[in-house]
Amino acid sequence: MRKWFEKLWEELNKIAVFRSLRFRISILILIVGALCCIGMRVGILRNYFSRAVEVRTSDVQSQMQILANHLISYDYLMDSSSDVVNAEIEQVANLYNGRIMVVNTNYSILKDTYNIATGKYMISEEVMLAFRGATLSHYDAENNYIEIVVPITATTGEKNSTVGVILASVSTTPIVQNEEILSRNSFIFMFILILLVVAVAFFIPRIMLRPFNRLSDAISEVKSGFTDETIAVNDYVETEHIADSFNQVMERIKIMEESRQEFVSNVSHELKTPLTSVKVLADSLNNQEDVPVEVYRDFMSDICEEIDRENSIINDLLSLVKMDKKSTNLNITSVDVNALIESVFKRLSPLAQRNQVEMVFESIRQVSAELDEVKFTLALTNLIENGIKYNQRDGVVKVTLDADYQFFTVTVTDTGIGIAQEDQKSIFERFYRVDKSHSREIGGTGLGLAITRSAILLHRGSIVVNSEIGKGTTFTVKVPINYAQNKNAAETQNT
Ligand code: ADP
Repeated sequence: MRKWFEKLWEELNKIAVFRSLRFRISILILIVGALCCIGMRVGILRNYFSRAVEVRTSDVQSQMQILANHLISYDYLMDSSSDVVNAEIEQVANLYNGRIMVVNTNYSILKDTYNIATGKYMISEEVMLAFRGATLSHYDAENNYIEIVVPITATTGEKNSTVGVILASVSTTPIVQNEEILSRNSFIFMFILILLVVAVAFFIPRIMLRPFNRLSDAISEVKSGFTDETIAVNDYVETEHIADSFNQVMERIKIMEESRQEFVSNVSHELKTPLTSVKVLADSLNNQEDVPVEVYRDFMSDICEEIDRENSIINDLLSLVKMDKKSTNLNITSVDVNALIESVFKRLSPLAQRNQVEMVFESIRQVSAELDEVKFTLALTNLIENGIKYNQRDGVVKVTLDADYQFFTVTVTDTGIGIAQEDQKSIFERFYRVDKSHSREIGGTGLGLAITRSAILLHRGSIVVNSEIGKGTTFTVKVPINYAQNKNAAETQNT
């Protein structure tokens, strides 16, 4: 049954109009409204009928009681020839369009207004119960009459005794006729009400959903670029929330767009600088006549240097673009981190020798972790390379490796120039260099730490910097050992 219902719901949802909120509210109002109208009509009719039967029954009962008292005062049960009483019985019977019978203690029928059963006997359960003092009534829905049995009670001294019984059958045809008239009228009334419900079902959802339409129009306007103002539809809490969320998304898009523009202008500027130098060098060679070969060589080696620089900026940019892609592009394998650090040391040892910097590796624990080897190697290479580049003569770069059951930690400490407190929060930004000319001199592009940070974030790790001017810098990298199991384990902190 549930499956059947789910399938029906699925099929209905395929119909475009059924998925409209306005249509659903209309249908709901229609169903609830129609059920209320029909329920009200049925309820009123039922209630009317039972109440009318009740009223008629109690009315007849009290009339029979009065009649019973008259029968006692005229001693009718001893002598049933009293014209006054007989006329009264006939009159009451006619009044209720019914039949009245009077039975004495011998169960003999003294009077029958239909004149059919006079003189006969009436021994029934109701009559016997009435002789015991009970007043009874019964409604016969099939034949449309109410049967009432009332005891005739005589009082002698302080004693009451039942000396006879009155049986009355009263027709309910007038009630049925009234009910039919009421039914017809209530049908017309119900029809008008249903028409009203249809009108309400049509107009109310339109009015109710107007703020949502306004919201959708405002969003469309922003989407089409007519306006970049924030939108506000405060009619409902819901529209207010949607508008707020939309404004926040737009704000984020704006910030992203600004940072994208800034990045593009930075890239253009960085790429233009070596080209301008190449152009200046080439022009000055062109404008001189009979340039000696040594000068040529000198200029050409400068040009080569600028081309190398251009090349390294482009390579770094490509690495950064790769890092910006989603983590699904990570090629995760189980990597021996000790071996990885040693291979980075090997690759950087010529640079370290040239700068007269000693590299030290201290492994507190043997670590094997789930990493993208290429990306993680790039991240560590940048950190260790910076430790060498921004060091002093005879300085040291010390790398330590440690782990607990969940994370492994690599620290890269150098005895170099250090980074001022105010610069520490910016060094991970793309193209940020503390000392532009110094960084340029030693071949920096300003992209190394941005690449490192992206690579570590992709591994759900964190990177923290600690530095003091003139004393040195320590970068601490903390990465989950099991990539898949630590989706949210690492909290990224960048200072
Ligand atoms: P770059 O290619 O210029 O080295 P990075 O992004 O690697 O760019 O570094 C950004 C800046 O942070 C550098 O220009 C440098 O001023 C500073 N920096 C990075 N690492 C160190 C370090 N170990 N010691 C001192 N300064 C550093």
